[in-house]
Amino acid sequence: MFLTGKKAKLAEICSRIVTLAEDAVIVIDSSHIIVSFNEGAQRMFGYEEKEAVGERLDMLLPERFQMQHDVMIDEFGAGSTDTRPMGKRNRQIFGRRKDGNEFVASVQIMRLGDKDHRYYAAILRDISESKRTEEELLRLAATDPLTGALNRREFTLLAEREALRSNRYHHALSLLMFDFDHFKRLNDTYSHSAGDKVLQRFTTLCVNALRNVDIFGRWGGEEFVALLPETDIDGAAVIGERLRKLVADTVLNFHDHKINFTVSVGIAQFKDGESALDGPLGRADSAVYDAKKAGRNRISVFRN
Ligand code: GH3
Ligand code: MG
Ligand code: MG
Repeated sequence: MFLTGKKAKLAEICSRIVTLAEDAVIVIDSSHIIVSFNEGAQRMFGYEEKEAVGERLDMLLPERFQMQHDVMIDEFGAGSTDTRPMGKRNRQIFGRRKDGNEFVASVQIMRLGDKDHRYYAAILRDISESKRTEEELLRLAATDPLTGALNRREFTLLAEREALRSNRYHHALSLLMFDFDHFKRLNDTYSHSAGDKVLQRFTTLCVNALRNVDIFGRWGGEEFVALLPETDIDGAAVIGERLRKLVADTVLNFHDHKINFTVSVGIAQFKDGESALDGPLGRADSAVYDAKKAGRNRISVFRN
């Protein structure tokens, strides 16, 4: 009698935990009909308990996942474990709220009951916010804070990946290197923060003028790089000259000043089988040097 009373009390406490939990707890039967929908689930999905209980689980999922979700639950039901996180690599799934909005959740699923009376429970936590933070951190780690261009590390990573791809298909690949002309003088004349504005404007000009497949980054200081897939040295020279002119024709209004600025552009093509950056970078850099020697505000092409 005493034990039964204790068990009953424990069962009541467990049920209270489910009710109070911040996480959504959803129980379905073997036909994937919702049989229990706690307050956390009601907050997360926007349905009241009586709207959800008795309905198919599908109502909580974006349409494109419904079929695979059914298959996944049946596989889990036939498998050897009673509990596991849901979702493949990222261990996350998409839920759909009553208003149609989707969100990302981490989910643990449990197999309950027995073969003849099968139930499944899912405990869900909305991770949209931490996903956003994670994405923002990834973006910050990949870009330069002043201009928003890719930083040297990210540029190198993407460029070497592209070089391997270009090599495999024997596609041409070229590199532009930009160095601002007399940038020290520009800083000295108009202030360092005017120089910063110039670097930002330059980045916008290049990003808008280049194609989506091109990779643009800040190599460091006032030096920038652009990788042009499917582009040989002659094509790269055309693009380099177009950018050079675009920059030279641009005027930056800074307080009462109208600031002009120019760049020298070195251009090199990857050789067959070349997938590291230092070779073409060295050649583009030496082309920049030639452009400076020849009077600046010009392109110079390194012929292999
Ligand atoms: P050159 O035409 O020979 O390239 O002359 P330069 O003055 O540009 O010479 P150099 O490339 O050696 O100098 C680069 C200058 O760029 C020095 C540095 O103060 C400035 N610089 C580097 N990074 C930044 C930055 O983030 N903001 C600003 N405003 N200036 C920068
Ligand atoms: Mg420089
Ligand atoms: Mg310079």
